[in-house]
Amino acid sequence: MSRSRGAGPGRLPPDRTRAEVGGRIRRPDCDPAAVADAVRLLRAGQPVAFPTETVYGLGAPALDHRAVARIFSLKGRPADNPLIVHLSSAAMLDTLVAGLPEAAEALIKRFWPGPLALVLPRAAGVPDIVTAGLDTVAVRMPDHPVALALLDALGEPLAAPSANRSGRPSPTRAGHVAAEFEPADLPLILDGGPCVHGLESTVLDLSGSSPRLLRPGAVTTEQLEPVVGPLAGKPGEAAARSPGLRHRHYMPDCRVVLAEPSALSVVCARELAAGHRVGLFCVSGGERPSGLALYRRVPDLATFGRAVFATLHEAGQLRLDVLVVERVSPEGLGLAIMDRLRRAAGAEA
Ligand code: AMP
Ligand code: MG
Repeated sequence: MSRSRGAGPGRLPPDRTRAEVGGRIRRPDCDPAAVADAVRLLRAGQPVAFPTETVYGLGAPALDHRAVARIFSLKGRPADNPLIVHLSSAAMLDTLVAGLPEAAEALIKRFWPGPLALVLPRAAGVPDIVTAGLDTVAVRMPDHPVALALLDALGEPLAAPSANRSGRPSPTRAGHVAAEFEPADLPLILDGGPCVHGLESTVLDLSGSSPRLLRPGAVTTEQLEPVVGPLAGKPGEAAARSPGLRHRHYMPDCRVVLAEPSALSVVCARELAAGHRVGLFCVSGGERPSGLALYRRVPDLATFGRAVFATLHEAGQLRLDVLVVERVSPEGLGLAIMDRLRRAAGAEA
């Protein structure tokens, strides 16, 4: 938090260039005018990127259909993929949804602000473009001081998908966003540091007769079920109900190969023997293979989840041919991690 704009070359974080620091990437914690400038841009229909606890978002006022259309075109996002609307108060929630089921009240009490998006019957004022024409809207309250300050200052909800071009890995640092969009298209990126979770929110559909998990995230099934009972649906069913899951996601600039812990060194050796530039991202023990261009071993699952997208970005920057990634058990946070990794590796959703 104490880094200043005039930091020497050796002290700049690796994800930012000298030109960006002090330019369109601005830190509200040491630049109090940044949030007010963001509000001015948003009111003028311009997109602004901002940090959340999950990933960085690309925001537009949710009730301004032209501003939202700009987000779709900037990202190259298919029109049938609805956006999550972010809010900071109960008053904002009232403008978005047509009533709250009992389960929603309990979940909001327990998990907001936090990485849980709820799909609820939509209010009449929500533009069709936000919901892709569905009669429901996804809403959440982010748990990040910069996101909440921005929403409070704007005084209205923000539709905000992840701040990356469609199909690419999500950004978990301001520098990842800067690498995706030209300054002329995205004049301001609020920098809140690396995202704490580093994985997009859990999406839970409350519009049917029982709660249904549409996308796993940092709030796990194991945390949700004690509050709302067993979740409906089998893995794979969600795509029909959550249009975004039908599209290709998280494609990095290199091949991603998933391997069991016991097979990691064999897979790395095979790729190295083929003359490839190889990276390894893992959480379990084992010997470090030599000759790797990137090696990241993290101590636990939460750190693994936080580092997934940053590692995919780094693999591209380092021009790896292949990133070998350890498979983890799809339980708890592991379900969300494996969902992102499988899709980064090219598997169907
Ligand atoms: P992203 O903006 O990339 O985090 O993706 C938002 C996710 O939420 C996508 O998977 C969407 O399909 C899903 N989503 C948003 N709104 C709805 C909705 N009304 N019904 C079902 N899924 C939704
Ligand atoms: Mg996204």
